[in-house]
Amino acid sequence: MASVPSLPTHNIVHPDKDRFLQEENPFEAMMSRFDRAAELLDLEPGIYKVLRHPEKQITTYIPVMMDNGEVEVFTGIRVLYNTSRGPAKGGIRFDKNVNLDEVTALAAWMTWKCAVVNIPFGGAKGGVICDPINMSVGELERLTRRYTASIIQTLGPDSDVPAPDVNTNERMMAWIMDTYSMRVGHTVTAVVTGKPVEMGGSLGRREATGRGVMLCVKEALAHLGMPVKGATVAVQGFGNVGSVSADLLAKEGCKIVAISDRTGAWHNPKGIDVADAIAYVAKHKVLEGYTKATQISNEELIALDVDVLVPAALENVITTKNASTIRAKVICEGANGPTTAAADAILDEKGVFVVPDILANAGGVTVSYFEWVQDRGGYFWTEQVVNDRLKEIMVNSFQAVLQLSKQHKVNMRTAAYMLSISRVATVHRLRGIYA
Ligand code: GLU
Repeated sequence: MASVPSLPTHNIVHPDKDRFLQEENPFEAMMSRFDRAAELLDLEPGIYKVLRHPEKQITTYIPVMMDNGEVEVFTGIRVLYNTSRGPAKGGIRFDKNVNLDEVTALAAWMTWKCAVVNIPFGGAKGGVICDPINMSVGELERLTRRYTASIIQTLGPDSDVPAPDVNTNERMMAWIMDTYSMRVGHTVTAVVTGKPVEMGGSLGRREATGRGVMLCVKEALAHLGMPVKGATVAVQGFGNVGSVSADLLAKEGCKIVAISDRTGAWHNPKGIDVADAIAYVAKHKVLEGYTKATQISNEELIALDVDVLVPAALENVITTKNASTIRAKVICEGANGPTTAAADAILDEKGVFVVPDILANAGGVTVSYFEWVQDRGGYFWTEQVVNDRLKEIMVNSFQAVLQLSKQHKVNMRTAAYMLSISRVATVHRLRGIYA
């Protein structure tokens, strides 16, 4: 028998817990919040054990023919965390630093997120370790299609429905839809959400996460008795979530005083013209070189004296190292996992009102649900209907979490976990353990 060739180390996942400081391991961050909520809910040991584990973790090695004629092998991951409430739902990210722990945490967060807003989905997440910024369109297409083919067994409108996430977009969703459809022999639009509108995407989906963030900021300010008009806001991250959040908050009368992307942060106490910054990025791809605001560091942005801070980039930007510098009264988490669990206590002590990620950024998956419903029904809604239904769900969910937080005298994050875990646990109790 031929000997098994040793695997190349390039792009291979090492399930190595020490790669993160404990504080910055997203799975630990998710679990410590989960444990606190489970304790307050007095969750029975059996369901506690079930909900601490993912249902399925797939790691796949994806060969791709690169433009230079050489074959490269990428690592792809798909984690289905929990499907008790419906098909697994969650985005796919392309990033150099993706790993199994992170994708598992993100899949769990999707489970809790779908349950907080009470849409009939479970949670999943996918990731491919790659450097998409330095890949051609052709390479990205071949990678996306081969990754889709390699996880095809889990995919389907009734089983697992991907969507965009960090560094993935509508175009890639179109390739996923096409690859899946060619495999099953007919067009299946509902296998993926966040598609182009021309092929079954929903109006309002692209702006949905930012719109949800805007709605949560307004609810938070109203709760604290602070006016929306003139409220000062710093937004970290200027991708889909950050830029749309900033734009919609500016349209509501807030003053956006700082924005940032991977090239740096920019500050203007008189207010930044967000539409102008978006046009600048459309032309130059990044904020680097923007002259209508002063360049500051990311740490300075986080510590600005503003009413609202919107972290809308990646995980672990608010940690025990900088939480004490925060002067914002409200933090609305546009990103998944921007605050470490250890930093929660510092923010609580300072009296910062935090709208947690699983509520604050749930607008995206909520409109993904609308897209899936529209695809399955073959009947499409106007943008106004989409936005109105999104608003109803976001406002009701915010109020449900707020009420629970008052009732149990816990912060919004713990209340959001309690609400979602209790909904998932109820379904497990009703379904029972199949043997
Ligand atoms: N990637 C987004 C999130 O983290 C959207 C997921 C979806 O629409 O399925 O919520």
